[in-house]
Amino acid sequence: MLEEILAGGAKALGISLPENALPLYRTYYTALTEANRQFNLTAIEGEDQAARLHFLDSLAVLGRTKLAGKTVIDVGTGGGIPGLALKIAEPSLRLTLLDATEKKTAFLSALTEKLGLPCACLTGRAEELGRESAHREAYDVAVARAVAETRVLAEICLPFVKVGGRLLALKSADTDEELKAAESTVKALGGVFTEIHDYTLPGTDIPRRIAVIEKTAPTPERYPRRWAAIQKRPL
Ligand code: SAH
Repeated sequence: MLEEILAGGAKALGISLPENALPLYRTYYTALTEANRQFNLTAIEGEDQAARLHFLDSLAVLGRTKLAGKTVIDVGTGGGIPGLALKIAEPSLRLTLLDATEKKTAFLSALTEKLGLPCACLTGRAEELGRESAHREAYDVAVARAVAETRVLAEICLPFVKVGGRLLALKSADTDEELKAAESTVKALGGVFTEIHDYTLPGTDIPRRIAVIEKTAPTPERYPRRWAAIQKRPL
């Protein structure tokens, strides 16, 4: 059951959940399955998988990084992963959920209200919003999962991060080459890899990875470029 998996998994990850977290995850899960009947929001097959592959995978971030009170943007959040799953566990984080698809942000806007967890739900392209002064270098932390390969991800996410802040990329474990290939890209964008955290998703044998990129200098003005250029000629 979702509640047992989450309670046990959080413990294994070294996280203590607030008292109301389990009912909130249940409401979240129900909303995801209902929305999935109307449009393709996220791949979920049952509550055990949702608990492990979505919620615990998100929570792994908190095992390593303290996010209390921080401004966090989840870039390409889809159904709210990892951002909303993190906000349930750490309600003090000031969360912005960003996605290019209006249907998804509308779903998240209604859901966060229902959960009583205020978040900013933004519809737009990361590479465009990252050029706007309201969002550029405005966040302590950017998080992202399953949005793009690391070079592309860095270009669309690092512009949001303040100098001294971090980008946390949730990745599969077989990304050694991908991360290596992104080192010079990350540097050009004002960042540096500071940590690769490998772990096994609790209750599974699935190896996962969080790549931590610290922002050490402002991102040069010419980045991010337009999507076509980012894709065609990754930095
Ligand atoms: N992070 C979620 C969703 C991954 S699917 C999860 O792990 O389950 C990728 C999502 O990123 C999609 O919802 C897509 O709309 C969004 N996306 C892709 N490129 C984007 C961009 N450049 N700007 C904003 N959103 C983007």
